[in-house]
Amino acid sequence: MVKKEITSPAKLKKELEEAKAELVSRNKKLKLSVKTEAKKKVDKKKAEAKKKAVAKKKAEAKKKVDKKKAVAKKKAEAKKKVDKKKAEAKKKVDKKKAEAKKKEEAKKKAEEAKKKEEEAKKKEEEAKRTYEEELEEQLTEDEIKNFAIDKTDMDKLVNRVTEMIASYATNGILQNILWRKLKLSSRDGSRLALKLEKLGNITREKILENGRWTYLLLIKKIPISTISIENAPCLVCPVEGKCSTDGEISPKTCVYIEDWVLTELKTKKRHETN
Ligand code: SF4
Repeated sequence: MVKKEITSPAKLKKELEEAKAELVSRNKKLKLSVKTEAKKKVDKKKAEAKKKAVAKKKAEAKKKVDKKKAVAKKKAEAKKKVDKKKAEAKKKVDKKKAEAKKKEEAKKKAEEAKKKEEEAKKKEEEAKRTYEEELEEQLTEDEIKNFAIDKTDMDKLVNRVTEMIASYATNGILQNILWRKLKLSSRDGSRLALKLEKLGNITREKILENGRWTYLLLIKKIPISTISIENAPCLVCPVEGKCSTDGEISPKTCVYIEDWVLTELKTKKRHETN
């Protein structure tokens, strides 16, 4: 500090005023400096606070994003698991389908093989000649027509068999079943069937039954036989001459005829049952 020499009161006054002005100026500067420092501190604090707030926001935003990413990842993993399960289930279904298809094909092949085998067997059977066909070749027409079984009334047998076959109408009857009913051997039965056919009473239809050839016997013509009327009461009736459908004596009111018809019916039914 420089010491100044005061020479007069006016100078002193001036000096004092200058000192005072300087002091005021310094004070002002000091105040301004303090204010600036304080402002700087406030600004710094504000800037730091802002920085912190921004950082916090960023951190929170990042946290949210990370959380979202984690949720999305979790969802993706869950979806992956579901897809995997679905794929496995589909694989199983496909496997089952493939197995079923394989089985179906195997079944189809087996069925085709069986069918072929059956067809081959059928052809083989068709190629075989029947006993009746051989008989037809070996025997003459007369031999067939005159066929007779020992101690048997052939006319009666022919009529009986024809009537039996007629009772089956258009369905016919298999010859082996008929021979069994009549207790005839298949040798005699086959000859009898040929005889009936030659007589024009029946027709024979060659059919494959249970893998074997046989004949279905069908009625062609029912023979008129006197056997059916041999016990008729009219043959020995004393009033036969007076009997007519519109007269006093008539078959409509005749008890003999009624009894005879009932008896015949019973006999016929008994034969059919046997
Ligand atoms: S229907 Fe009777 S009454 Fe007439 S002829 Fe025959 S048995 Fe005799």
